[in-house]
Amino acid sequence: MADHDVDLFVIGGGSGGVRAARIAAEYGARVMVAEEYRLGGTCVIRGCVPKKLLVYASRFHGEFEDAAGFGWTVPQAAFDWSTLIANKDREIARLEAAYGATLSKAGVEVVKSRAVIADPHTIQLANGERVRAGDILISTGGTPSYGKPIPGIEHAISSNEAFHLPEFPCRVVIQGGGYIAVEFAGIFAGLGAQVTLIYRSENILRGFDDDVRQHLHVELEARGIRVVCNRTITAIEQAGAHYSVHVSDGNHLPADQVMFATGRVPNVTRIGLKETGVEIAKNGGIAVDDYSRTAVANIYAVGDVTNRINLTPVAIREGHAFADTVFGGKPTKVDHTNVATAVFSEPEVGVVGLTETEARARLAQTDIYKVMFRPMKATLSGRATSVLMKLVVDGLSDRVVGCHVVGEGAAEMAQLAAVAVKMGATKADFDATVALHPTTAEELVTMRKKTASYAREAAE
Ligand SMILES: Cc1cc2nc3c(=O)[nH]c(=O)nc-3n(C[C@H](O)[C@H](O)[C@H](O)COP(=O)(O)OP(=O)(O)OC[C@H]3O[C@@H](n4cnc5c(N)ncnc54)[C@H](O)[C@@H]3O)c2cc1C
Repeated sequence: MADHDVDLFVIGGGSGGVRAARIAAEYGARVMVAEEYRLGGTCVIRGCVPKKLLVYASRFHGEFEDAAGFGWTVPQAAFDWSTLIANKDREIARLEAAYGATLSKAGVEVVKSRAVIADPHTIQLANGERVRAGDILISTGGTPSYGKPIPGIEHAISSNEAFHLPEFPCRVVIQGGGYIAVEFAGIFAGLGAQVTLIYRSENILRGFDDDVRQHLHVELEARGIRVVCNRTITAIEQAGAHYSVHVSDGNHLPADQVMFATGRVPNVTRIGLKETGVEIAKNGGIAVDDYSRTAVANIYAVGDVTNRINLTPVAIREGHAFADTVFGGKPTKVDHTNVATAVFSEPEVGVVGLTETEARARLAQTDIYKVMFRPMKATLSGRATSVLMKLVVDGLSDRVVGCHVVGEGAAEMAQLAAVAVKMGATKADFDATVALHPTTAEELVTMRKKTASYAREAAE
């Protein structure tokens, strides 16, 4: 170890890398982090945080509309994109500085540079300097992918650029149906744009419960977002200051901005993986074991670059568990089951656990409890909206194995429901919990009537 400059070199100062670096340093390790762009990574700089700030901004629109039914006369509201972006940028800069301060307080050295693995104990920095490290952690995250190239793709933006548009676009066409596509559709629509969402498959939010997908589809359209499924963008043509978007059904749509939110790929290229013997898994991420160790004994990887569950709290958990394992003498595996997740669309989606389809494939008997109802606020606002709540229950053990909500506050509900689901709460436990009235969440503990029950079909 004596010839090492540091005990741990972390490549990438995002959610996973920063947590791992800080905890390892607190265990007494000499740690260096390289970050090629901005400390904080995707979540802080161009992901969760700025997105949620834009979501907040976009929701005032609906609030102004809803206010009338409660007796308010709201004067014609005006929105200024540049004010929002400047305020958002100020907050992001504050957070970035806070990340730097936390690392320096823990004694971590940060280098603002791209880093590449030269050999299992050597890191090459952009200025040619080399750093010798006992262990290496790869936490390089992911990058937006545009899918197969189409003519004019250079005109399209990804979520990265959406946070920095110089002008607010009045007509936006988004390709994609995942959570980032759906969230940006809500942001742009809420801020006043005409939005069309184009998705290649039969419905948005693949991987979510089918009822959630269908419910959100209807709700988005009720808010004026055009959702076009089973179609793709085939070309983007410059038409003066605007674009003409060619769609696979032969239609052309005018747009001021075209956004592709067609997935993300792990950052595994040109960082010296192949040369060092670090292997890539079938999912395109770095292959790791339960302790985030790669095929090379002293090289580890956490977060989106491993493409396990691409969420900030998961990257943080993995980074923390890595530090506990390697520097804290506490071998720790991350439990990737029952991770709650949200879509900050309008209305919101919050889920934890199995979808109905997953449960029916895995369990001998699956019971479904489902309600759809008009939220109290809509009675006076007059908004055409309904809330969906669904519990997926193991029919044999009575355990609640899935909870799915679409409606205001769904993300907050999913976080709390996750505690119950993680603890193995049964439907009887939910029923025994007295409702908190008047809330939307109370419906989760008052769903008495089973809406469906399925026995697993025998495998052929
Ligand atoms: C638009 C959007 C919205 C999102 N919303 C949510 C949300 O609401 N909730 C949620 O939980 N998750 C959300 N995510 C996902 C979340 O941001 C990621 O899961 C999380 O940031 C992953 O952390 P990470 O440490 O693996 O990687 P990142 O945070 O991406 O950090 C990787 C860092 O490595 C740096 N880097 C890469 N290569 C090198 C190199 N060779 N040398 C030096 N530095 C390098 C990058 O610049 C980056 O800063 C969102 C993502 C996006 C894009």
